[in-house]
Amino acid sequence: MSSLFPALVDAPAGRAALRFGDRALTYGELGAAAGALAARIGGAGRVAVWATPALETAVAVVAALEAGAAAVPLNPKSGDRELGHILSDSAPSVVLAAPGDELPAPLAGLERVDVDVHAAGELPGTEVPDEQAALVVYTSGTTGPPKGAVIPRRAVAHTLDALADAWQWTGEDVLVHGLPLFHVHGLVLGVLGPLRRGGSLRHLGRFGTEGVARELDEGATMLFGVPTMYHRIAQALPEEPGLAQALGKARLLVSGSAALPVHDHERITAATGQRVVERYGMTETLMNTSVRADGERRAGTVGVPLPGVELRLVEEDGTPLTSYDGESVGEIQVRGPNLFTEYLNRPDATRDAFTADGWFRTGDMAVRDPDGYVRIVGRKATDLIKSGGYKIGAGEIENALLEHPGVREAAVTGEPDADLGERIVAWVVPADPQAPPSADELADHVAGRLAPHKRPRRVHYLDVLPRNDMGKIMKRALGA
Ligand code: ATP
Ligand code: MG
Repeated sequence: MSSLFPALVDAPAGRAALRFGDRALTYGELGAAAGALAARIGGAGRVAVWATPALETAVAVVAALEAGAAAVPLNPKSGDRELGHILSDSAPSVVLAAPGDELPAPLAGLERVDVDVHAAGELPGTEVPDEQAALVVYTSGTTGPPKGAVIPRRAVAHTLDALADAWQWTGEDVLVHGLPLFHVHGLVLGVLGPLRRGGSLRHLGRFGTEGVARELDEGATMLFGVPTMYHRIAQALPEEPGLAQALGKARLLVSGSAALPVHDHERITAATGQRVVERYGMTETLMNTSVRADGERRAGTVGVPLPGVELRLVEEDGTPLTSYDGESVGEIQVRGPNLFTEYLNRPDATRDAFTADGWFRTGDMAVRDPDGYVRIVGRKATDLIKSGGYKIGAGEIENALLEHPGVREAAVTGEPDADLGERIVAWVVPADPQAPPSADELADHVAGRLAPHKRPRRVHYLDVLPRNDMGKIMKRALGA
């Protein structure tokens, strides 16, 4: 494989590629800057990238990939301890950073290369094997310490091309996003995605509903966000009339990284006429499933397997489920060209993650509707509550709680119970902290909507839910 980004050579040099705030690069400028930097880092196995939401990060990653090196994006908000771990684990040869960025102590010993976005060089045109690492991305650390997933070039190419098929994503699309650039969602889909298509990206720097409305009004066609962003949009819609109109113009609103609450989905549809497209992926697998642009956009589902991805649900004893009845819960296992190669320096974890015949155990639990649509019910480790002989997914109870007008945010966990095995516990951020709905009222609300055995037995009230930088609820911090 030569380049992951044919448009660097093929697109008209003046075509828009990247815009971050008021700084932008055309394909010609991006190719020149990436070429100059690639010459500087050429052949350097792994390079760390100080991944601020800035033009320099995009240039650095493209340059690394053009040079045939693997990029290791670093979260600038990581604490010294986490950075120290990632640096000793991934052992990069240099760190690429924007001039002027101050780097913290753990990076002091590493050679620094400043990224000049206006430098001019030739793209190396190196032939790089498809199986070579493109990225080492650390998982979000939702369920344990982050692990470094080694992602080959083949997986990046495959996932982006499969999404192009599912979303009818072309070089005419203009993407707006405000996600961080050190995870798969913001970096692979959000930056490398538009560049692989020959389209363009406008990054908001910081996510805000005004920025989303402005960019969509000015011709952006797609929005990528995490559920917390769509929640903010849903909250803002009644107060910002321009926002609904702008969202109504978008070709595609995409959500991923965590489950999009059905309540937020429906509020957005009611105000804008748009159905959000949900997709499901992981650092290790890139993208597995998506609702297709030309398919039915059903709330609460992550759609169907992407082209080339094999997906099955497996019972606890390892037996694959054979029928889709919308009720039988199994662990999602996937196989296909979208998969990572290994966890860096973790042969034990890599071995445990795969079955003997090469299926990757995602740790996510799901059911499939009769037509094959996948509905994630939660993570095996934290979201599957075994209570009174039932297996209950936290997600559907969370969705039901969010439909109560007195609930702003909700998380559900299980805790040991002498009678039931586990009992259902709700963690609720009330809409009005002065007048929270009572525990009995919430339990009846859930029982009325779902089933009596799904009622929370205990309710805790919080000011905010503990979330990581992708907005994912940290259930470990809730004792799950
Ligand atoms: P760690 O593996 O370190 O605990 P993490 O699993 O959150 O963290 P990521 O690889 O960023 O790290 O996230 C992948 C997980 O995110 C999936 O396994 C799944 O649980 C969740 N996820 C992603 N997209 C969706 C979605 N659309 N609906 C529900 N869950 C999703
Ligand atoms: Mg994970």
